[in-house]
Amino acid sequence: MTAAPAAAGKSAALERYEAVIGIEIHCQLKTVSKMFCGCSTEIDGAAPNSHCCPVCLGLPGVLPTINRTAVEWVLATGFAIEATVAPTTRWDRKNYFYPDLPKGYQISQYQLPLAANGRLTFDTSEGPFTVRVRRAHLEEDTGRLIHDELGGRRVSLIDFNRSGMPLMEIVTEPDIRTAEQARRYAEELRLLMRTIGASDAEMENGQMRVEANVSIRPRGQESFGTRVEVKNMNSMRAVERAIAYEIERQAVAVDAGETIHMETRGWDEARQSTYHMRPKEEENDYRYFPEPDLPPLLTSPEWLAGIKARLPELPSVRRVRYREAFGLSAYDADVLVNDAAAAALFEGALAAGAGVPAKLLANWVTGEYMRLAKGGEGSGGGAAGRVDAAELAALVKLVAGGAISGTNAKEVFGEHFASGAGVASIVKARGFRQISDAGALGAAIDQVLAANPAAVADYRAGKAAAVGFLVGQVMKATRGQANAGMVQTALRERLDKAE
Ligand code: ADP
Ligand code: MG
Ligand code: ZN
Repeated sequence: MTAAPAAAGKSAALERYEAVIGIEIHCQLKTVSKMFCGCSTEIDGAAPNSHCCPVCLGLPGVLPTINRTAVEWVLATGFAIEATVAPTTRWDRKNYFYPDLPKGYQISQYQLPLAANGRLTFDTSEGPFTVRVRRAHLEEDTGRLIHDELGGRRVSLIDFNRSGMPLMEIVTEPDIRTAEQARRYAEELRLLMRTIGASDAEMENGQMRVEANVSIRPRGQESFGTRVEVKNMNSMRAVERAIAYEIERQAVAVDAGETIHMETRGWDEARQSTYHMRPKEEENDYRYFPEPDLPPLLTSPEWLAGIKARLPELPSVRRVRYREAFGLSAYDADVLVNDAAAAALFEGALAAGAGVPAKLLANWVTGEYMRLAKGGEGSGGGAAGRVDAAELAALVKLVAGGAISGTNAKEVFGEHFASGAGVASIVKARGFRQISDAGALGAAIDQVLAANPAAVADYRAGKAAAVGFLVGQVMKATRGQANAGMVQTALRERLDKAE
């Protein structure tokens, strides 16, 4: 867990106040074309206003068409969070004026979202926690305003490439009580989006936008306080910090006799504080009404069944399977489930190497593999190497059977990671096959004992640590190939016996 900000735990105010938090998340859905037109969604790095058409520019007289894949992603999300998926849904116009919204309204879903009444359960430092999800619905994104300076004048530029990109909005009930729970909810939802393939959900580039509604109430009070909406958090860490900050700010304000007003606040990463952006619009400001250009959407049972059947194994299910079927610790299971490439390697190696010990394999994947994959020392500067699952299985079996030392195995793995060479050929070329033969080890031990009388004397004089030095000498003499465990045992035997 990341270190909680000072405000989270130690605050005296929080002994008297409880926070109430609801989260709204927008995810950009993975589709080829936009929500209501044929424009490409490949807008990253594209020239401004190069991916637009009359529909997503909101020109008069055009008609929207519904993107089937986008609808399917919301339905899939609905199933993944155990929500009720509506047999028929409708589109609504959400009217407001803003320069990034050329139509003057956004097509959204108001009264009949595609999915409602779901839940998401995840682990926190205080145990498992479940958040009820009120709804998940589909809508379209707006354009992007860029405030800049041109020739000494302050200008606002507009890029409509993002206009009409498919967005899913997922809204929770106000069930969350701590900043950590809020961050964990967002992390679990992000993992779910990536697992089912609905969204890449990168916060840094706006594919996933988290907004938190935060209020406080005196402990023991049932009714909620006035909520403040916090946005512009660009990382999970920022989500936790911003909420912790906001809870503390409200508590201090209430203590000082101030009244909390509905407002939208932004998170200032540099200052690590929230600031007032604007007063919160009332709901009826949007003048929602049914979208007249789109028919209601019917979700046939066959269509729904197909979407449900195509869902992959969900993170919550996979965690339990890893723990129960392979005896992994909750921690290891979680590390694997959070990293799709690592989980694929783990599963691939299990499938490829009959009898490979799963726990040891998991250690290799979460340890050496993830270290090198993240560009750790010896990874060749982060050049993503490819690990062959069958080769990893073979290596882990060599380690488990004592045929190769753990240290040498790491070298073999590093070489395989860098060059792709096969494990057997690396072991052979480097002469890494471990000497576990008692006779061969005995000869090496005899030589080392004869060559190091001082260390032998030290040991017999009661300096037990001298044995470590002698083990090291045997390892050196055998170029690291001796089975260190066997050397240790054999050395002690000799030293204790042959006085
Ligand atoms: P809006 O229409 O402004 O989006 P909603 O009623 O849809 O408002 O609620 C938005 C979010 O705020 C939901 O996640 C909800 O759980 C949460 N919420 C509602 N009331 C409170 C409150 N008093 N304190 C904290 N969160 C709240
Ligand atoms: Mg809302
Ligand atoms: Zn378009």
